[in-house]
Amino acid sequence: MRADLHCHSSASDGTRPPQEVVARASAAGLDAFALTDHDTVAGIPAATAALPPGLMLISGMELSCRRNGYSLHLLSYLFDPDQPELAAQCVAIRASRVDRAKTMVGKLAELGTGVTWGQVAALAGDGVVGRPHIARAMVDAGVVSSIDEAFTTDWLGPGGRAHVRRYALDPAEAIRLVHAAGGVAVLAHPFAVTRGWMVPDDLIAELSQTGLDGIEVDHPDHDEEQRDALRSLARRLGLAATGGSDDHGELTGDRIGCDTTGQDDLDALLERASGAAVITR
Ligand SMILES: [Zn+2]
Ligand SMILES: [Zn+2]
Repeated sequence: MRADLHCHSSASDGTRPPQEVVARASAAGLDAFALTDHDTVAGIPAATAALPPGLMLISGMELSCRRNGYSLHLLSYLFDPDQPELAAQCVAIRASRVDRAKTMVGKLAELGTGVTWGQVAALAGDGVVGRPHIARAMVDAGVVSSIDEAFTTDWLGPGGRAHVRRYALDPAEAIRLVHAAGGVAVLAHPFAVTRGWMVPDDLIAELSQTGLDGIEVDHPDHDEEQRDALRSLARRLGLAATGGSDDHGELTGDRIGCDTTGQDDLDALLERASGAAVITR
């Protein structure tokens, strides 16, 4: 069993439409994959329509959270997206993403970069707007030479001249909401410093007490040592240890299936989820 439990599409900041993500998951020989766009399940219908026989689709979402000023991401799976409390929070987070992106573009304009909201909105299309769209507009405008450079603390990174905070949930509250909607919650890439900060062990233990179901252990931004440490932590806390590519299409280099979740850990998650069924054809 190879299940990639972390994939983005153009419904958020991935560059591939959901149906192309499905085609790539299938070509990678996966048995299952989860579509986990930021704060939205808008890509699920198109992914479902494109699903070939034999490939399982797990509906998911990567929820934006914050604790003590630090951003962290919560992968949530198989929840009922229409559960009113969770749905309302997702609407609030998405609205705040748009406000924030506009404010960031305003700051970039003040800095004389020439990046406009029109460019960023065109790159986001129907997807949930995010910093990667702004970063791409900056590259296109010749302000920076790479997406990574746009994400430094000079520009869009925390404390950067064009950085703006947005609304986010406390992770304990987010876990509660996901559970209330029948889903399961997995802490995304806890040690990927480039994507936020090293989530401290004591916070992971606290979230485990709150009902966290798993930890994303195998992620491209984790080195072997970090994977070993997280795997033992997951085992110690009785949490599933998951893996996923965090593929964003061209943005990350197409890499669906480069990190995956094994049968036992996937089963442990599926067993606990009741808000939605795994989608198959
Ligand atoms: Zn993330
Ligand atoms: Zn992600």
